[in-house]
Amino acid sequence: MALVNILHMNTGDGELSYAKNSLLQETGIRNAIPILKHSIKGIANYGVFKDCITVADLGCSSGTNTLLVVSNIIDIVHEVCQENNREVPQFQVCLNDLFGNDFNTIFKSLPDFYANVKKNKGEAFGPCFISAVPGSFYGRLFPNKSLHLVHCATSNQWLSQMPQGLENNGSNIYIAKTSPPNVYQAYGKQFHTDFTKFLRMRSEEVVHGGSMVLTIPSRSLVDLASDDSCAFFELLGQSLVDMVKEGLVQGADINSFNMPLYFPCEDEVRNIIESEGSFSVENLNVFKVNWDPCDTDYTNMNDSNELSQVHGKNTSKVLRVALEPLLVSHFGNSIIHVLFKKYEKHVADHLSKKKTRHFFLTISLTKK
Ligand code: SAH
Repeated sequence: MALVNILHMNTGDGELSYAKNSLLQETGIRNAIPILKHSIKGIANYGVFKDCITVADLGCSSGTNTLLVVSNIIDIVHEVCQENNREVPQFQVCLNDLFGNDFNTIFKSLPDFYANVKKNKGEAFGPCFISAVPGSFYGRLFPNKSLHLVHCATSNQWLSQMPQGLENNGSNIYIAKTSPPNVYQAYGKQFHTDFTKFLRMRSEEVVHGGSMVLTIPSRSLVDLASDDSCAFFELLGQSLVDMVKEGLVQGADINSFNMPLYFPCEDEVRNIIESEGSFSVENLNVFKVNWDPCDTDYTNMNDSNELSQVHGKNTSKVLRVALEPLLVSHFGNSIIHVLFKKYEKHVADHLSKKKTRHFFLTISLTKK
């Protein structure tokens, strides 16, 4: 089955839902606010939108983050309009994600959301019209020149498909130190193809002067295998190999599985934007978040064994809620619980030796 029909974050709002385990991505959304503000000021000052601003959030998922993005955008537009003494526009907000996304959970939270907007901003505000647009952002989603602002947080790392030609990646499930050079190239090439397509599709949809704010999980090192993003998945690969040794997973199933994810470095992102040519880079900011997003202490290396276990558990949940449907479609349901228990232990061990952080890039672009 094609990835677009499999991939989705864990649904609902239970203990192991994306909604309850998306602090990492929430931190990304909050860190993007200054750049988002700058972009919105820009499109307001240049008169890019008039009576209605049309906004798309791509890869919106479901849970509190989805409407946090909408509410941040509403607040900023409101603030900018007040500063400029102009009337607040109506809002058309289109929430996009793949077909399996839990849009129903978002819809159920809309009455409260609309009531809050009214309460905070007054009856005359907006109004704000929220709709859902299911589909892949690697294809067209909106009519020509219909969007003023595109927001996309922690989603561009998902490739459109598993890169081709990874048969010799052995028991690695992503780029690893032992991966042959063609694996590195295949991943880089797939990201190049996908990100170029993403920009090309948006270049048709965004009006001249319109803005895009993308927060992309990236890597800080140019050398792929030495980067911490690889270690994150090497530990999951190790957990699967442990299960092969215990007869719980077939070796052949690992050999045929590779993560459809990629973490580009800043230069790769800049080069693709430049060679695609439709957008210019306005602003760029980088930030880091601990693997365990609840751990805000970046330096303390004296965590007790107990605390390291907690970090392992939290990190494991972050990954599980994003990967479970994908892993289930390849390995089946029965391995998931044990797999993430093992991953939890490997991560706890890793974090007790090295506080490791995810690296993010927030970039704002203007449509030429
Ligand atoms: N923006 C949200 C969700 C991030 S998780 C937040 O910050 O919390 C990444 C999301 O991207 C997932 O919901 C996943 O389904 C979505 N996604 C991945 N590939 C996609 C594609 N090709 N088109 C649209 N959405 C995609």
